[in-house]
Amino acid sequence: MTRTAIIGGGISGLTLALLLRDKGHSVRVFEASDQPGGAIRTTRSPDGWMAEWGPNTIIESSGRIKRLVSMLDLEERRRYTDHAAKKRYIVRDGRMVAVPGSAGGLLSTPLLSTSAKLSILREPFRRRSRNDHDETLADFVRRRLGDEFLKWPIDALVGGIYAGDPERLSVRHAFPRLALLEEQHGSLILGQIKGGVRRPPGSEEIPRNKAEIFSFDEGLQVLPDTISSRLGDAVSFQSPVKKITTVNGNTATGETADRSQRWRVHVNDPLEPPQDFDVLIYAGTSYGLSGIDFPETLVPLLTPVTEIPHPPVISFTMGFRRSDIAHPLDGFGMLIPGIEGFPILGTLFTSTLFPNRAPDDGHVTLTTYMGGSRQPEIAGMLEEEQAAMVVSSLRKLLGLSGEPRFRHRILWSRAIPQYETGFIRYLTVMDRAEQEHPGFYLAGNYRTGISVGDTINAAFDLAERIHQEES
Ligand SMILES: Cc1cc2nc3c(=O)[nH]c(=O)nc-3n(C[C@H](O)[C@H](O)[C@H](O)COP(=O)(O)OP(=O)(O)OC[C@H]3O[C@@H](n4cnc5c(N)ncnc54)[C@H](O)[C@@H]3O)c2cc1C
Repeated sequence: MTRTAIIGGGISGLTLALLLRDKGHSVRVFEASDQPGGAIRTTRSPDGWMAEWGPNTIIESSGRIKRLVSMLDLEERRRYTDHAAKKRYIVRDGRMVAVPGSAGGLLSTPLLSTSAKLSILREPFRRRSRNDHDETLADFVRRRLGDEFLKWPIDALVGGIYAGDPERLSVRHAFPRLALLEEQHGSLILGQIKGGVRRPPGSEEIPRNKAEIFSFDEGLQVLPDTISSRLGDAVSFQSPVKKITTVNGNTATGETADRSQRWRVHVNDPLEPPQDFDVLIYAGTSYGLSGIDFPETLVPLLTPVTEIPHPPVISFTMGFRRSDIAHPLDGFGMLIPGIEGFPILGTLFTSTLFPNRAPDDGHVTLTTYMGGSRQPEIAGMLEEEQAAMVVSSLRKLLGLSGEPRFRHRILWSRAIPQYETGFIRYLTVMDRAEQEHPGFYLAGNYRTGISVGDTINAAFDLAERIHQEES
């Protein structure tokens, strides 16, 4: 039986552990903190408010995500977002404008000027990029759709997804679908009309416009909690891995005698003796690699990966009396482009998405994000100053009149990995680290996509690859 160690009990590490155990591996997850889930964590207050620390929703962008939920018998507890939450708003000239849902709506929307709309109509006639360079998202959008499309919808979207900067993100790495639409169809608009990016045969991908969005009855933490309880004592909490060494010979139970090198995992606990494994998967954060003493052949390959930028993000969930907000909150939320000059990136109408986030119909919750690459300095301000900036923005944008009745705030000093231009250099060293060190694998949101759905999807791919390579 292959003995497999997984460092990190976020959704990447837990999903890998579950899938590899199902494939016959003996797995052990080492998690530094005292609970599973990494960025996924939910708080419920005794008086009925619920707040997510990190992600609020998962996009069901693949049949594999459905499969994971059903493997865990969680279908009954899954909650799809209310259809009332389909509408999305972007702020333009200080006002909330609904994002048009159709081509007709695009022509009449006040979100864009007439010249920007004409520029979109010309998009299919623009030539595709002739050179192969790693283009920023901003250059790509300016080239295909024009500057105004970049400054409002795209800047808003990038703030909402990456808390990032379109002038720095790589279109190929951060938004591969956009790059592929141009590559395969010569045009984003024609590509969409023709059914989007071509999917490889057998792909379980669900197109974004058809994918449902969900959480669970008690919030997203239900997912890592359930995986962790299925894994039982295969998951060790408060077990930060400090050192990895290699040893020759088989592991204690090693029947896979064809490879002589094994991985020895040292945990920062004097009572826990080092343990040997056939396979080692690092599923922590990219910056966390610097906290582990790796064998010297791995150090030059992993050190660059620790430099992937992660700007800070502050997440505020606030509860209000429904009657204190003038806006109907009839949608998913609002995104705010940098050019609008607000100190917030956007706000999710969290209790419209999932009504059980607030104690009753008379109350609502809103989750607001601040900081990111756009305004990292906000992370250094006092919590009270940050809260005041959120409330004042909500007063202007949503017609808020009262004060928050509930408040939950979390500062992620390193929130989301930025797939900026030049990202290929990280991917190259990660590939080399694996090729030159059989039995060693790297997994997580710093490599294969930042959404929870991406990490689950990547875990399915990696579990299959490890099973093929290690059996
Ligand atoms: C504020 C915020 C909002 C987000 N919103 C969304 C959203 O709405 N939808 C969405 O799809 N995604 C969202 N994301 C992104 C998504 O949550 C993450 O990309 C994803 O959860 C990452 O999972 P992971 O397992 O790869 O890494 P992590 O969740 O970071 O887990 C890594 C784990 O490894 C552990 N670890 C690290 N080093 C060691 C060590 N040496 N020894 C032992 N353990 C170690 C850590 O303690 C941690 O538990 C959001 C993220 C943030 C921060």
